[in-house]
Amino acid sequence: MPPLNQEQKLKKFEEMKFMIESEGYRLHSKAWNGFRGYIDLSCPKGHSYSVTWVKFKQGNRCPRCNFEKRGLNFKGFGENGVTRKEYQQAMADKFQKELESEGYKVISNQGKVKYSTNKTEIKVLCPNNHEWEVNWNKWDSGKRCRFCFEERMRKSTEEIRQELAREGCELIGEYKGSNYSFEYNCSCGGRGRTRIKDFRNGTRCNRCRGERNREKMRELRLKKIEEFDQSTEN
Ligand SMILES: [Zn+2]
Ligand SMILES: [Zn+2]
Ligand SMILES: [Zn+2]
Repeated sequence: MPPLNQEQKLKKFEEMKFMIESEGYRLHSKAWNGFRGYIDLSCPKGHSYSVTWVKFKQGNRCPRCNFEKRGLNFKGFGENGVTRKEYQQAMADKFQKELESEGYKVISNQGKVKYSTNKTEIKVLCPNNHEWEVNWNKWDSGKRCRFCFEERMRKSTEEIRQELAREGCELIGEYKGSNYSFEYNCSCGGRGRTRIKDFRNGTRCNRCRGERNREKMRELRLKKIEEFDQSTEN
């Protein structure tokens, strides 16, 4: 493509300005700078930044507004116009909100989350008043109060122990949740390992399975003999 003359450049600039300002943005650059040249603008909220015209046309909008909307997906500093401090404040607010929405109370730093990195430990009281420390990493991956967790595990271990006992079986060790198998002494005297769902469905140890199979085979043999007897009778 031959270089644009002054008139064409002006036309491009006017087009660009019109499109940008029709979205409530303001264009600060004063001249056409090419499709891939950077232009300075500010978004409807007044955030200033630079972007290439190509990117804007492709739909890229104010990175800071984007960041404020998404918070978490933020992937770096500088380029998108967010300073480290702004990021830390946004994360602190977000963390605080999430903690409080689940009934956790921040007790360090006069009740305010102080966020430096995703590994900064925050001292909290859980809804059951356990004192616990958590950082954003752990919280975001779903970790909650360790003491509540241990209590729940103790409780469910006890419940599972009783459930097994009603079937004449004995839980060995701890119950770690429905996704994990546990070992038990089976009512038949054998030893089994299974998950609670399978246990409830009647699955028992290998020895029981062996006996059930023998029982089934015996029934099958009896049925065959019976059939044979009937066929010879006729
Ligand atoms: Zn903005
Ligand atoms: Zn707790
Ligand atoms: Zn058994």
